[in-house]
Amino acid sequence: TVGLQSIAKSFGATKVLGGVDLSIADGEFLTLVGPSGCGKSTLIRIIAGLETQDSGSVAIGGLGVDHMRPHERRVAMVFQSYALYPHMSVRSNIAVPLTMSRMTMRQRLPLVRLMSRSRREIMRGIDADVAAVAAQLQLEHLLDRRPAQLSGGQRQRVALGRAMVRNPDVFLMDEPLSNLDAKLRVHMRTELAELHKRLGVTFIYVTHDQIEAMTMSDRVAMMDAGEILQLGKPSELYDLPASIKVAQFIGSPA
Ligand code: ATP
Ligand code: MG
Repeated sequence: TVGLQSIAKSFGATKVLGGVDLSIADGEFLTLVGPSGCGKSTLIRIIAGLETQDSGSVAIGGLGVDHMRPHERRVAMVFQSYALYPHMSVRSNIAVPLTMSRMTMRQRLPLVRLMSRSRREIMRGIDADVAAVAAQLQLEHLLDRRPAQLSGGQRQRVALGRAMVRNPDVFLMDEPLSNLDAKLRVHMRTELAELHKRLGVTFIYVTHDQIEAMTMSDRVAMMDAGEILQLGKPSELYDLPASIKVAQFIGSPA
């Protein structure tokens, strides 16, 4: 589970989150929706450890993570902009979290370095992990290309691969499809839903697109002005919207 307790956050005088409580089950696909500026990105950045809340606490798998750095949290974030390195191959882009963590481990623990397997063995392990992820995402034939030589959907899959290679318990996705054209977006919806089913891990997903929210999610949390207005299954928000705002976003009949 991911448990958020009374998460509050202000930027200067602007209150962005007003004490959010939310509990997300293992393996759940939870979608955050709501108007621009309502605090969706801030909330998932707090879960990822990329932003610090003013008050309240975050627990992942029953463990308080407030003192943990992002890479210690067993979460992986997928950004809208993909954040790929243009000068690196697809293979190296996917391997980034593995090569990075190996470096930090070496810097911190010289003893581990002495006792660990040889460099070649470690590299073979990384290659195997990248190959496994590439196979899942049908990227095997693209591993030697650079990001500029890929389509939008392929870049999106590379960004997903980089998240998957860390084998996280929780995927955090901030509008991962919003840079894609309409046709590809529809295709990627299905791919993401299938990926979620296959991996069986928790997805916390932010979108502006109500069709994505309604078709992909186990539950939807509708936010407004730093609060959760309603939380429930897509059908519950559609059939029994808690307010006009929810009805308008979901497109329920008046
Ligand atoms: P969108 O749908 O447009 O992506 P959002 O729901 O993700 O919006 P956030 O990015 O969480 O919204 O931003 C919430 C509010 O916090 C906005 O008013 C934004 O301007 C403000 N904000 C976000 N990050 C910062 C920051 N680093 N410094 C100051 N204000 C910020
Ligand atoms: Mg945002």
